[in-house]
Amino acid sequence: MRKSERYTLMMRYFQEAMPQAASELHFQNPFQLLVAVMLSAQCTDKRVNMVTPALFEAYPTPASMAAASLEDILALVKSVSYPNSKALHLKQTATILAEKFDGQVPSDIPTLMTLPGVGHKTANVVAAVWFDAPVIAVDTHVFRVSHRMGLSDGRTPDAVEADLEAYIPEEIRPLAHHWLILHGRYVCTARKPACEKCGAAVFCRYFSSKR
Ligand code: SF4
Repeated sequence: MRKSERYTLMMRYFQEAMPQAASELHFQNPFQLLVAVMLSAQCTDKRVNMVTPALFEAYPTPASMAAASLEDILALVKSVSYPNSKALHLKQTATILAEKFDGQVPSDIPTLMTLPGVGHKTANVVAAVWFDAPVIAVDTHVFRVSHRMGLSDGRTPDAVEADLEAYIPEEIRPLAHHWLILHGRYVCTARKPACEKCGAAVFCRYFSSKR
């Protein structure tokens, strides 16, 4: 099967199976989204959603988080992975947002990446989810599923991102990001892909290679 054909079938399948796919993180504004995505690095969305209600209540704005002590922020995020560095990055980022960006989260990826603790993936997620930027953030699920399906053989997240963005039209890239994450989280899991109940099997390279 040609790669372009695989992409066409993939998009057709997910548009029918998951027309409303969205982030599983809980947030109500771009600042909350940025905080949640920063906390989700190397951590589950479920765990992040357990700590953010109290965090957002205590610090609803960048200014309020910037004014908090590091110890107080740490106490609220201590159950996520890497709590010390994440608490520090939250305080530093909140301070920059309050002082340099009038309390607003920037919408463009290069500016987002100047914030402490905000790498390429985090910036892409925030830009795509809140600002509808035509980009696809490649996390561990997107990377694995893209390889298994035969959407990309890229050896790095950047290479996979380039492949995905070469074939997936701009207007559905934010949605495609969620398709691949959710498929990887619940069907095409790292430990054991559930190929027997997978609707993507008809165009999946891994599945066809096993037959
Ligand atoms: S058929 Fe199997 S390997 Fe392919 S996408 Fe589905 S679960 Fe993953």
